[in-house]
Formats: sequence, C-alpha cells, structure tokens
Amino acid sequence: MTTLSALCAVLLSPFFLGGAGIVFFGRVIRTIPGLLFHSVSPNNRLVLSSISVSSFRAIAGALETKNFTTLTMKEAVPIGTGTIPADSRKQRVLLTFDDGCRSFFSHALPVLEALKFKATVFPVAGYIGRYSSWDVMPSFPHLTKPEIMEISALGHEIGSHGLTHADLTYLGPSDLKVELGDSKKILEDITGKKVTALSFPFGSWNTRVWELAQELGYCCGTIYRKHGHALPGLIPVHGVYGFDTPQTILDRIAPAYPCSLSMACARIMSHFAKGAPLWKFDTSYLLRPDTKRCGIKNPVRFL
Ligand SMILES: [Zn+2]
Repeated sequence: MTTLSALCAVLLSPFFLGGAGIVFFGRVIRTIPGLLFHSVSPNNRLVLSSISVSSFRAIAGALETKNFTTLTMKEAVPIGTGTIPADSRKQRVLLTFDDGCRSFFSHALPVLEALKFKATVFPVAGYIGRYSSWDVMPSFPHLTKPEIMEISALGHEIGSHGLTHADLTYLGPSDLKVELGDSKKILEDITGKKVTALSFPFGSWNTRVWELAQELGYCCGTIYRKHGHALPGLIPVHGVYGFDTPQTILDRIAPAYPCSLSMACARIMSHFAKGAPLWKFDTSYLLRPDTKRCGIKNPVRFL
C-alpha cells in the first residue's frame, strides 16, 4: 500500500469501519461487526430494505462457511466495551432484525435455528399483531404476541424499536419517555425478560435520546448512521439490502481493507431511512416536533 493510500485509509476509516472499530480521540475501540435486516420475504416487492428468502439463506450459509459465530446484543456489549476480551481467532457477528416483521418468524427463524445462529429482534411494541401504517413502503404484518414469546424462548433476544416507530429525535421529553418506557414494559411483559437493547427508528438518535434511554434501563443500542460518533453501549450495524450478495456482506463485516464499495453503499443507503418521515408529508410530525403526541396512526389493521 502506498503512503498516500495508507493515509486515505486512516482518514476515511471512521466513516466506513463500523464493524471493526470506532475512533475515539485517536483510540480505536474494538466493536463487534453487526448486520441490520428488516424483512426476509419470498416477495420483496422491490422494497430495498427487504431481502429474498434465498438471499438470506445464502448470506447465512456464507457466514457459517466462514466460521462466524453469532452474538445477541447482551453478549456483544461486554466484548465491545472490553469487559470480556475478544478472541481474535473467532469470527463474530451480531445479527439484528428491525421492525419485528412477521416474515422473520416464517422465513428467517427456521434458517437461523437450522444453523444454530442467534439474533436480536426489535419489534415496534405498539404494532404487535398489526399491520404497519407508519412506513412509506407497502403495509406489512408485524409479529404477534405468541410469536415473540416463541422467538424469545428459543434464546433470541428481544429489544425495543419504540412504541409507534416515531423519530425519537423529534419528540419532547414526555413523549420520548412513553416511546422508550412503554415499549420496554410491553415487551418485558410478553417475554418475561428484561429488555435492555434499543434500535432507534429510522436510525435517528442523539445524545439526549440515548441518555434518557439509559436512565430508563437500556444498556445497549444499534446505530446504522454516524458510526464515527458512537457512544459507549451503541454498536454500529450495517444495513442489508435487496441487492446484497454473500460477498458484499462479507466485505462489510470482514473487510480486507478499511474502505470498500460495499461499505460505502451501505452508508449511502442508511441515509435514505432518515428521509422516510419527510416522504410521509406528516406535517404535524415535522412542524411541531415538541408537541407531537405519541399514538398509533389510524387506520390500524389487525391480523
Ligand atoms: Zn424501523
């Protein structure tokens, strides 16, 4: 590697690394490489955040072939913070699924179970057993209560993705407390386990949101933008998209170089999620952020 390319790699690494480490004041903090899935569907209807069942099988199979072991959020955080020394001989990956799509239960869970992989699923607590009404994409069914219970009983972790999938950075203190606190309580009542992991809807977070989340009992969260600004407890994850292949995923979580086209693609795609609330033209949401009340938008269809 030439001196110039080495310099570029060092300068750009905070923007692309995510899975390998984060630079804090010049010190690289080791983190666990993480992947963020949404829907795994036989019919992805050209939704970029959804991947086909065959793609998911191929990606999971590639991880197994490369001897990756999977971690849940609870398992990943102590390693990321250095409480447990990371074993460099082991390839580890964090598998996360946002939104609690029902397709996880039907299509992803059987593949994970067959490979003995564990994942962390983040349902939107106010939409359990209902169809989505918050997404710009076509409405989809969310996991039901018995399905969440079964997923948890199989050893997969359940985390919160908020109550109504609101952009938490737009909310005032009381609404923010409802989104973070009530969603946690609902999921704890269903699973009988402490919910300590959080995934920020639309990937939107700031220090204020994360500090309140910690006060309410969360100890870890995933972020898929602003990787270079991660705070302790927040684990960078890379989005997985409909165009991904096993090789592009491996390029993201076990890159040969600090920067890759695959990482750049994931980083660019992650910014589209931020635009979703704008696309909905939800004016009360955008123009009066501090007075927006939490609540599920109607009409809500039940399964
Ligand atoms: Zn989401």
